[in-house]
Amino acid sequence: MPPANRKQPKRANSSDSQYSLMEFMQQYPDDEACLQELWRKRYSPDGEHAYCPKCETERVFRRYETTQQRQSWNCIACGHYLYPTAGTIFHKSSTSLHLWFYAMYLTASTR
Ligand SMILES: [Zn+2]
Repeated sequence: MPPANRKQPKRANSSDSQYSLMEFMQQYPDDEACLQELWRKRYSPDGEHAYCPKCETERVFRRYETTQQRQSWNCIACGHYLYPTAGTIFHKSSTSLHLWFYAMYLTASTR
C-alpha cells in the first residue's frame, strides 16, 4: 500500500487571534463560566455531585452565592465548603478568573 495519497488535515492558522477570542468568549463568557469549569474539572463532573470529605461520601453540592472573591459550593447535608480555586494560582489572585482563563487559552492556542 503506497502511503502517498493520505490526506493530511490542514491545521488552522494559530495567528488568527480574532477567531480565537470569539471562540474563547463563547466558551467562557464570564468569571462564572470559568468558575463552573474549574468546579466540574476538579470536583464535580456533572456540576452537582461531589465527594464531601466531611460526610466521607458523595453528596449534592449547591453553589454558595457570595460577593467575595473566593467562590464556593457547599454540601447540602453538612454545609462543608469546597472551593474550586483552592490550591491553584487563582485562589489568592485578585486578577479576574476570566482574565486568567484567557491568558491560559492564548498560551495553549499559540503553540
Ligand atoms: Zn457533607
